[in-house]
Amino acid sequence: MQEYNTDVLIVGAGPVGIFSSYQAGFLGMKTLVVDALSEIGGQPMALYPNKYIYDIPGFPKILAEDLITQLLKQAEPFKVNGSGEFILNSQVLELNRLNDELKQFCVKTSKGDTIYAKAIIICAGAGAFGPNRPPIDNIENYEGHSVHYFIKNLEIFRDKNIVIAGGGDSAVDWAITLHDIAKKIYMVHRRDSFRAAPSSVEQLKNLAKTDKLEMVIPFMLDDITGEGKNLKSVILKDLDNNKKEIEADHLLAFFGLSRSLGELENWGFKINKLHSSIEVNVPTCETLIPGIFAVGDVAQYDHKLKLIATGFAESSMAIHAAWKYVFPNKPFHFVHSTSK
Ligand SMILES: Cc1cc2nc3c(=O)[nH]c(=O)nc-3n(C[C@H](O)[C@H](O)[C@H](O)COP(=O)(O)OP(=O)(O)OC[C@H]3O[C@@H](n4cnc5c(N)ncnc54)[C@H](O)[C@@H]3O)c2cc1C
Repeated sequence: MQEYNTDVLIVGAGPVGIFSSYQAGFLGMKTLVVDALSEIGGQPMALYPNKYIYDIPGFPKILAEDLITQLLKQAEPFKVNGSGEFILNSQVLELNRLNDELKQFCVKTSKGDTIYAKAIIICAGAGAFGPNRPPIDNIENYEGHSVHYFIKNLEIFRDKNIVIAGGGDSAVDWAITLHDIAKKIYMVHRRDSFRAAPSSVEQLKNLAKTDKLEMVIPFMLDDITGEGKNLKSVILKDLDNNKKEIEADHLLAFFGLSRSLGELENWGFKINKLHSSIEVNVPTCETLIPGIFAVGDVAQYDHKLKLIATGFAESSMAIHAAWKYVFPNKPFHFVHSTSK
């Protein structure tokens, strides 16, 4: 349990949170970034580190994990005197406004830390997220070893038998990506239609004509067998409860993500339930609470596009507005980064 004092508390260490820490550092503000996950990088790092992103300005293509590395490098010069630090495995819970005159917020975290901040930038994406797990007893014993919901290291699948379950973009994309690496892929889905890009579904169906990929349809996950953390087989059932057992080294289950804004819902923002997001005033991205801004996927306004590039632009606008909030009596001189 620690106490921290900062100019700007940034909630969320996704791409937009990291860029916000750069922007705030550039304007001379002390920052602290808090994230619920154990790793920096938000969705790109947790969900698709090995995928190329094609719509980041200046990069014709960049691996998601490389984008996070570059963003951290960009923020690095401002990591001095305790500023620019990241606190991981820590979810923000409670917000108190201490003193309107001093403009100080006090935030408690799930680690028991107390953070005092003059302004807050919420970059919480879709909130704290986690995979929807298949309802299989003791599946957690295998998770991260032979049962996966996110993929980090493709090499562990080399020459292995893999069961992929799900019918969305992730299941289809990973089947296509891994067919070259794996010994064989069994694609399990409860129906013959997939909720994925039509070109990818066509590619998948072509792969199913080879001996590298077999469609197991209409089937659902029923159980798994194994020893220790190692999977031996995946047991499937169809709608009539007919069972089928497939010997497999890995199970990849893609049943979407559960997302929740958690305690942020109780902070007094206008919450958009449909998009699980916080309504903000454009162009400053300030929330209903003066001094608290929301940017990136978590920020909602008309015609919002949930893209990394959008989040970067929102971050620039919010951080400049936050500076004026933190230093109301200082004259603000806008400078380009090239002038520093
Ligand atoms: C498969 C996939 C492919 C994509 N491809 C592209 C693409 O090609 N181009 C593109 O522009 N976008 C793409 N996106 C969308 C892009 O990933 C998001 O727009 C981007 O990650 C948003 O960044 P963010 O920093 O706002 O939020 P996130 O990346 O979601 O990060 C939010 C962080 O906040 C943390 N957090 C949440 N609540 C709390 C809390 N209460 N306390 C502490 N921490 C908290 C979370 O743990 C998370 O680390 C893709 C998304 C997916 C899923």
